[in-house]
Amino acid sequence: MKKTSLAVGILVGLLAITVLWLVRMNTSVVPVSPTTSLETEPQDTADTTATTTVSETTIPTSTTNKDGLPVIYVSIVSHNEDMLSGQYPDFTKDQAEFERQREAVASFAAMLAEHQAKYDFQTEWNFLLGMQKYDRGTTSTNGKNLIAYLSEDLGMSVDPHSHEKLGYNYADVAYLISTFGVEPTGVVGGMIAAPAEDSILEYLWKPIEANKYDYTWTPEIGWGGGTGLHINETSLWTSGVWRAKDNEHYQEHDVGAPLPIVGRYNSSWEGLDDLLEKQANGELAAGNIYTITIMQNQTWLTDQTIAEFETQLKTYADETADGRIVWATLPEVYEAWHTLYQEVPSILIWEGETATSSGAEGIPSPKTGSNSCGNGVCELFERKKGLCAEDC
Ligand SMILES: [Zn+2]
Repeated sequence: MKKTSLAVGILVGLLAITVLWLVRMNTSVVPVSPTTSLETEPQDTADTTATTTVSETTIPTSTTNKDGLPVIYVSIVSHNEDMLSGQYPDFTKDQAEFERQREAVASFAAMLAEHQAKYDFQTEWNFLLGMQKYDRGTTSTNGKNLIAYLSEDLGMSVDPHSHEKLGYNYADVAYLISTFGVEPTGVVGGMIAAPAEDSILEYLWKPIEANKYDYTWTPEIGWGGGTGLHINETSLWTSGVWRAKDNEHYQEHDVGAPLPIVGRYNSSWEGLDDLLEKQANGELAAGNIYTITIMQNQTWLTDQTIAEFETQLKTYADETADGRIVWATLPEVYEAWHTLYQEVPSILIWEGETATSSGAEGIPSPKTGSNSCGNGVCELFERKKGLCAEDC
């Protein structure tokens, strides 16, 4: 009798463990979507655990989509800054603001992952010191620190961003990222590219020694070339990838130059719409890569702005499904350029005005009666320009 109840007890115990294990597997197995899709809406779950959706990029096997249109690679980047910016606190002394922004970044990234979009989290040193002091993992990040969650659980990129002020240079920032168990990428998260005497391009050609730590970081991919205060820099807004020749010739390709540059173009939805117009009008060259970054200031991320961003993201579902747009991290864009485009230089300079001005000379209007008018879908550029009453 005792032996029987013991056996039953063991059986019940084993069964319970198996059930628990199955339940756990079911909730923690990563649902990997085989294709990039903004149309797949994951079901809302009531539990409070963080998302385990890894955002997988499917780099196309061709430089054009099924209709022969050159592909546009879209990246999403956010920045935080040091205290000299005047926009950010000393995070080591403001735990509440640190926690607010940490939660906002986690929420933003999880939203992007749900839509199979990609994200480069670019961070300065001070936020990382805040992480060292306060980040012990939360349920919203599966118990991990923010950087490990972004990288390991969501498949996003973590890149150093540095103005090299207050004693911290690019290598110091990269070192601080590495202390969270994640290898920093070689992406230069922002650089001054003009005027030539201020350009840091050639400085980035060699490995950089950290000032404060025993660490060396090697820049591998340049991004975000601008002027010091982003003044008069629209002529630097470039779509494409190339190897920038030298400080005097940022937008010239030199096959032997060390640093490839992934262009950010006009880093807004407006810039993306402009590229989509050019794509629809046959103004993009087959065999060239086209790139754009949608930029977010980390301090602006709130529940409301994240929801607005999501709404905007969803309007590109058709373009995504058609392969006109591919969402990719900056390292993935470089990889595509290197392998798929064989490093053919691609340099398309923004010529338009910004949204705030009228009469945008240089932005060609989509031809009336272009192939998408009348297809029953109100394309963004049709809506924007009021060009296709039939669809919109
Ligand atoms: Zn910055």
